[in-house]
Amino acid sequence: MSELVITIDGPAGSGKSTVARRLADRLDATFLDTGAMYRAITLAAVRDGADLGEERRLVQVVEGHRFDFEAVRGKMLVSIDGQDVTEAIRDSDLTAKVRYAASAPLVRERLVQMQRAFAAQHARIVTEGRDQGTVAFPDADVKFYLTADATERARRRKAELDAQGEPADLQQIRQAIEARDKSDENRAVGPLKAAQDAVTVDTTGLTIEQVVERLYRHVEERCPRNH
Ligand code: C5P
Repeated sequence: MSELVITIDGPAGSGKSTVARRLADRLDATFLDTGAMYRAITLAAVRDGADLGEERRLVQVVEGHRFDFEAVRGKMLVSIDGQDVTEAIRDSDLTAKVRYAASAPLVRERLVQMQRAFAAQHARIVTEGRDQGTVAFPDADVKFYLTADATERARRRKAELDAQGEPADLQQIRQAIEARDKSDENRAVGPLKAAQDAVTVDTTGLTIEQVVERLYRHVEERCPRNH
């Protein structure tokens, strides 16, 4: 059993992944990027030539491959059947397809089980996604919900792509982000939403360091013996 579980949920580009990694580092905890799990299932399904709209087929993909997720030096390493796919799962065409696995209740059920199993193996964990505080870890010690306005989220994503040498159109990125928000907010199971007891932080105009500092202070206040 974990002694400390912190959840961070929020929409694409709200800063969750970077903040989760840095907060985990400060708390001497491991982090879990659950979006990487939905991405990996989608990649395996595409490689298998599966019909992404067929839930039973997606479950076969989950059960038919070995998926490994490991946090190493601030990075979530992901492999399928022993083959490293850490970079491949970030592809923007693949990103647009993740909504199929994300809206399949039986896939979500299995991934939530995998997330709990991952947490059970680590004493301290910061886990981020869309449903971590609401579904996967309703009894988490501290829950955060990060937001930021869509234009700022698109700008952040563009800066990341520019840094990777992949120039992209801001307007197109914004549209892709809004399409993902809509699909994430409206699915029947595990939709994107803040847990009732989550601390909501609007990261618009804040630096990563400022957000991490704010979250760390909350953890200090809520878990005086554990930070
Ligand atoms: O966080 P990231 O952008 O990598 O997530 C990719 C997609 O995976 C999200 O748009 C969402 O549809 C799905 N996801 C989810 N539940 C989670 C994490 C991610 O449905 N806990």
